[in-house]
Amino acid sequence: MYPVNKQNALPSSYVPEDLVPLTSVRTTTANQRLRRLVAPVLDQLLTAAKAAGHDLVVSSAFRSYAEQESVHAYWESTLGKVQADRQSALAGHSEHQLGTVVDLTSASVGFQLEESFGDKPEGRWLRENAHRFGFVISYPAGKEAVTGYAYEPWHIRYVGVEQATAIYQKGITLEEYLRTLR
Ligand SMILES: [Zn+2]
Repeated sequence: MYPVNKQNALPSSYVPEDLVPLTSVRTTTANQRLRRLVAPVLDQLLTAAKAAGHDLVVSSAFRSYAEQESVHAYWESTLGKVQADRQSALAGHSEHQLGTVVDLTSASVGFQLEESFGDKPEGRWLRENAHRFGFVISYPAGKEAVTGYAYEPWHIRYVGVEQATAIYQKGITLEEYLRTLR
């Protein structure tokens, strides 16, 4: 439940000690890792999605500070600073550094990360069911003023079933939920 956003960063040296490779799930790029607690829960979510007829694929999981630095530099050189900051975190400010966050994609969006994923059957399934496994959509539609980020229907963060369900039922963002705890 550590707040990682435009204001709060993780130390550049922070790397979770219990990262494990994602071996049993489909990924678009090799060598994806998550924290030991989260990897099996992601398995459960993907299995449930599959049973409901949706093939979800992991695009990106843990990213180190250095990896995030190069990701952001790439987007800034491609899109310019303003647009890059809407969709890509500065190093230290990415939830992916927590090791509890994953981006999911599917064939219907060409295995890309794009907003239309939210309108696809698998994107809708994820929005309605992620909380049952303890995940939240960190950057929902229409919440950019709160989260600082454009809609990311593919980006889910594990916070545990109890908290994820509370956030889902209240219809608020993780950001807003964390504020109510402070
Ligand atoms: Zn993400």
